[in-house]
Amino acid sequence: MSEAQQQPPRAAFDPPASSFTPPAPERPLVADSENDAREIVNRWAAKGFFRLRNMGDKIFVQQLSKGAAYTIRLQTHYEHRTVQQAETPYAGGPVDDRRRPPDPWQLPVRQPTEFEQRVERMTVPGTERVQMCGSCAGGGRVTCSQCNGQGQSTCPRCGGRGIVEQHVMEPGRDVNGNPTSVPRRIQHRCSCAGGLVRCPGCLGNGMQTCSRCNGSGKTKSFEQLIVRFQAATQGEILDVTPVPDKWLGTLTGDPVIDLKEPRIDTAQAVTPDVDAKVKDLLAQSHAIDAGEARILLQTLRVERIPLVEIDYKYAGEERKLWICGQQQEVYAPKSPWRRQRVVMVALAGALVLAAIAVTVAGFFLGWFAAG
Ligand SMILES: [Zn+2]
Ligand SMILES: [Zn+2]
Ligand SMILES: [Zn+2]
Repeated sequence: MSEAQQQPPRAAFDPPASSFTPPAPERPLVADSENDAREIVNRWAAKGFFRLRNMGDKIFVQQLSKGAAYTIRLQTHYEHRTVQQAETPYAGGPVDDRRRPPDPWQLPVRQPTEFEQRVERMTVPGTERVQMCGSCAGGGRVTCSQCNGQGQSTCPRCGGRGIVEQHVMEPGRDVNGNPTSVPRRIQHRCSCAGGLVRCPGCLGNGMQTCSRCNGSGKTKSFEQLIVRFQAATQGEILDVTPVPDKWLGTLTGDPVIDLKEPRIDTAQAVTPDVDAKVKDLLAQSHAIDAGEARILLQTLRVERIPLVEIDYKYAGEERKLWICGQQQEVYAPKSPWRRQRVVMVALAGALVLAAIAVTVAGFFLGWFAAG
């Protein structure tokens, strides 16, 4: 490729300096300096339709104080093992009843990945027993449940009436004597025997194959081990401000605890409140029946979410707002509104309501009735 092709064609003249300003590189803002806080509030205000333009420049900042909220997340991976009695139809074959059943925790199960949730069921070796079926007393057949052993059931075609009705159109004449078709009902006898048909469940003999033993007359009982891998998450947000916890939980902060261990018993100190909560959550996560469950893995993450509380005055009224998290998100309840936009929307709403009222009134007064 020649050099002339690679170079973009030069503009015939330079654009006037005023029309183009390169975007300024983003300077990291620190919410605890008043100027930066004003700029953060300005940016926030620009993002909302009803928010007061350049609110950061219009408010009178009285006090700016730093604080923090904490999010605590504890995740625990458990393995539960329980044994319960189970039963299947038995149609012959080997029966595993000669060994001593092992301890449920000795049975090998495919190991889960971290925090994987899965359920496995398996027969405990040595626990199989064959016995006569308790539902059919070994006969393999039971009274038909559809007909209660009667061998007959209500005819679905005629609903048990023995008669079916049919609607047909026949040529006739209307009130003016013009030819037209008129509906007529015809009744005739149903193909069933007086409203009853042979029961489809037992083909008329009143008996059905026993579903518990599948007709074999025998069942096999055994102990079934159920293994459940479960992940449980406990979370807590420690916050003394009116900033909604749910919203705070979506922000990121600085990690102050980040642990991953087979079992977490202690964590480093943060603040007395956080430490107490962590201790409490760990105790809850450890409260399990050791015979039925065990802990495979735990992770504990505590994040410090920086908060800057700003007391300000606007239009003679004292209010508060908060700048939160690394994202420097603003929470400003009862912040001043952009009055023109509120008036505009209220007027538009009133106009729409008036238009609806006129239409409804017109409808009832018959303005739009067709001639
Ligand atoms: Zn019938
Ligand atoms: Zn039947
Ligand atoms: Zn049976």
